[in-house]
Formats: sequence, structure tokens, C-alpha cells
Amino acid sequence: MRDPDRIDPLLAKLGEAWKRHPDLRLGQLLVALVKPSEACPEVFYIEDDELLKRLSKRLLPMEYNVCKTCRASDGRCGMLIDGECLNCHKTRETGEVQIDMSLPRTSEELKRTMEIL
Ligand SMILES: [Zn+2]
Repeated sequence: MRDPDRIDPLLAKLGEAWKRHPDLRLGQLLVALVKPSEACPEVFYIEDDELLKRLSKRLLPMEYNVCKTCRASDGRCGMLIDGECLNCHKTRETGEVQIDMSLPRTSEELKRTMEIL
């Protein structure tokens, strides 16, 4: 699993770069940074307000998709069974730590799953 601690410094740097060129759209800035070998007009031309709208729409259901035990969220939770993700549900059911490799977890979330026992 990728380190969640990478997100804040990356967003800070991105914000710094963007503020130096406020006329760019976010997609335009990303395309300028990545320099893709093929054109990506959907990314390049998307307006920031449209991006924000889509992001807000996607975040809404995620707030309701949180494992009550390990608190995994952001759509990483998978299907909830009695409010718990499959890892926590199976761990509780079997009495042994069960980690499905298709469900990425932070070390904090893993720790909370293990605390079931
Ligand atoms: Zn869980």
C-alpha cells in the first residue's frame, strides 16, 4: 500500500506551483508536469469547477462507507457486513486475524483490526 503521508507534501507543492500560474486549470497543470506521450484532452480541458463538482459527488458516498472497527474508508472498505469490512468481520468470526490482500490498509487500520482479538 502506498504511504498516505506522501499526500500532504505533494498537495502543498502542487498548490505552490499552481499559485505561481493561477491562470492554469488543474488538469492543464498536471498535463504540463506529466508531459504525456499522447494528448489527454479530457484532463487538459476540464474546468476546475467541474472537477470540484465531481470530487464532491464522489466524496459524499465515501463518508458513509467506513468500517466501524478499523475505520477504513475512501472506498477501500469494500462491502460492509454489519458495519464492518471483510477483514474485521472475518477476524471477529474466526478469532484469527484475516487480511484480504485486495483490501489495502494503513498500519493504523490493521492495528485496529488486530485489536478485535
Ligand atoms: Zn475493518
